[in-house]
Amino acid sequence: MLKNDLLEQWDRESFFHPSTHLSQHARGETPTRVVTGGKGCHITDREGNRLLDAFAGLYCVNVGYGRPEIAEAIAEQARELAYYHAYVGHGTESSITLAKMILDRAPKGMSKVYFGLSGSDANETNVKLIWYYYNILGRPEKKKIISRWRGYHGSGLMTGSLTGLELFHKKFDLPLAQVIHTDAPYYYRRPDAEMNEAAFTAHLVSELEALIEAEGADTIAAFIGEPVLGTGGIVPPPDGYWPAIREVLNRHDILLIADEVVTGFGRLGSMFGSDHYDIQPDLITIAKGLTSAYAPLSGSIVGDRMWTVLEQGTDENGPIGHGWTYSAHPIGAAAGVANLKLLDDLDLIANAKDIGAYLNEQMRGALADHPHVGDIRGEGLLCAVELVEDRDSRTFFDPARKVGPAISAAMAARNVIARAMPQGDIIGYAPPFCLTREEADIVVATTVEAVAEVLG
Ligand code: PLP
Repeated sequence: MLKNDLLEQWDRESFFHPSTHLSQHARGETPTRVVTGGKGCHITDREGNRLLDAFAGLYCVNVGYGRPEIAEAIAEQARELAYYHAYVGHGTESSITLAKMILDRAPKGMSKVYFGLSGSDANETNVKLIWYYYNILGRPEKKKIISRWRGYHGSGLMTGSLTGLELFHKKFDLPLAQVIHTDAPYYYRRPDAEMNEAAFTAHLVSELEALIEAEGADTIAAFIGEPVLGTGGIVPPPDGYWPAIREVLNRHDILLIADEVVTGFGRLGSMFGSDHYDIQPDLITIAKGLTSAYAPLSGSIVGDRMWTVLEQGTDENGPIGHGWTYSAHPIGAAAGVANLKLLDDLDLIANAKDIGAYLNEQMRGALADHPHVGDIRGEGLLCAVELVEDRDSRTFFDPARKVGPAISAAMAARNVIARAMPQGDIIGYAPPFCLTREEADIVVATTVEAVAEVLG
């Protein structure tokens, strides 16, 4: 690998980093980290630090870093056939095998897998397929997509619109007109502290009904949601949420996209969040955990109901006008096959479930009584700690204090990575599935120290 003393200077001069404060970075006011290696739950940097990565990159390195099985599968594929396209019926052994493996694991009622490269492009595909579907059915007015505030579905034009976070809209002229947002299923921030979870679900359902009524069901094509809100704050849904939402959508003939970019392939301790919560989606978005990020690959899993209409569409109009050069890239597909095999061989999803329960329990034990900890929540191997100025009134800290980023930085200074989620003072945890109890203990102890350093 390139070892070069100018690297940091080149970085600030040449590299446009995503989701970064550009001017501060260019001026050298923010730290830069050059990551050089990874093994298990740890990464190493150029300064010789070894950090416990309790966010698995961006909740994606699910099997852990440095797995030779996946590296070898990638190398072998690159040597044998680095690329061929998937247009007009072409495939490779890896891509066909992976499609079969995904469907074998998917919730029932799923028919085919379309491969892309990122969660964002997979959601763009989903929206295009939904628009196509309703056009083929002769209902071209059904075009709007309902998303939730605090949802995260990518940062393209359409997917950035679906994303319900202010930072991704502001100054980008988003959201686009076809996207409408409904309330987040965020129990901690329910409108009335007296509401129990069932009452909050009923409230969300009536808000959704009101939105559909106001917009007109005939104009609404689909609803998109993550089984557990991820980037919006790691928020599991209240009791009964998904079956209640599905019922409303069925009644109004609105399709449902389950965005499982984070939850797919084991993050909740189940193969898919759709089964975990009985979501019964028409489309499922997959990415991150599909290859554990060893290579870029995403997918749209298309349900039977839509597939039949897509076939009808091509009978009437010719081949589907949708494809990327890198759809089903063989190297990504080889990584995916090796990754799914590793999940099975090492029983990693069962470990995600066990260690996730342990991490959440330990976090609650250590921090539930802290005067500035408002909520500790999680599901499977996802956990979040929400910090507040005042527990009783659930008041936010002044955003200028940047409490979340300060805690995350204090943890990084102790060689543990947890993510300051982008909206609110929320610390998020989504470690690799191979996390051990000793490592979970370190994550919790470091959080306690960092919270004490920043908030006393
Ligand atoms: N959907 C969800 C639920 C995500 O969490 C993300 C990324 O974090 C995306 C979509 C977008 O994926 P990508 O960053 O690969 O475009």
